[in-house]
Amino acid sequence: MANLQQRIQEIEQNIQAACQQAGRDRSAITVVAVTKEVSAARASEMIEAGFDQLGENRPEVLLAKQQEIETGATWHFIGNVQSRKVKDVINRVDYLHSVDRLSLVKEIQKRASQPIDCFIQVNVSGEATKSGVAPDELQQFIEEVANYDKVRVIGLMTMAPFTEDMAMIRTVFRSLRELRDEISALQLQYAPCTQLSMGMSNDYSIAIEEGATHVRIGTALVGGAESEGDA
Ligand SMILES: *Cc1c(COP(=O)(O)O)cnc(C)c1O
Repeated sequence: MANLQQRIQEIEQNIQAACQQAGRDRSAITVVAVTKEVSAARASEMIEAGFDQLGENRPEVLLAKQQEIETGATWHFIGNVQSRKVKDVINRVDYLHSVDRLSLVKEIQKRASQPIDCFIQVNVSGEATKSGVAPDELQQFIEEVANYDKVRVIGLMTMAPFTEDMAMIRTVFRSLRELRDEISALQLQYAPCTQLSMGMSNDYSIAIEEGATHVRIGTALVGGAESEGDA
């Protein structure tokens, strides 16, 4: 695998090409560097390289990294969060990308010391194995969130299906954007819902073309566990 500088350069080029293709401004895209599989040392390198938005998906790993990393990173929790773990993470992260059920919203309400910026995870593709709110239940779900003032719905998040079918992936991303537009049109104060968290290593270009504001890039950017030491 290419070294870190090469990976950054390639991703930056791809992001700019996708922005150009879609007539979007590069500054509209936030890259969340997903460091869940690499060390705190590699995460620190990412910060030094200018990627200070870090994504983690396990509470223990998040806490361990935060103890080692002193420089100011912005933390995104991107994984499923078990209700009993909410208290461990909720006051240590800046964004939660994976709000997918009312029981989680209730637990956040109980444990958060201040309102937290959340993405509602939507299961656009409808796969049984995926978590997320069903598209046709989304509006009702978000209306219920009104009762819980610690959850600020800044946007929607989805995971594309695991497939080589790029047209299908694009359809999923486009559907999420349309859902985002429907919710934001409601002009709910607690749910501005302007953001779209979608796109990973294999599909971030498509996601950007379809309107992603946050791409969550792991292996293609930070490398995998096995690449540590090659940069
Ligand atoms: C691991 C993970 C990513 C990054 O995946 P890559 O394919 O390594 O880019 C993005 N989002 C979520 C929710 C993840 O769990």
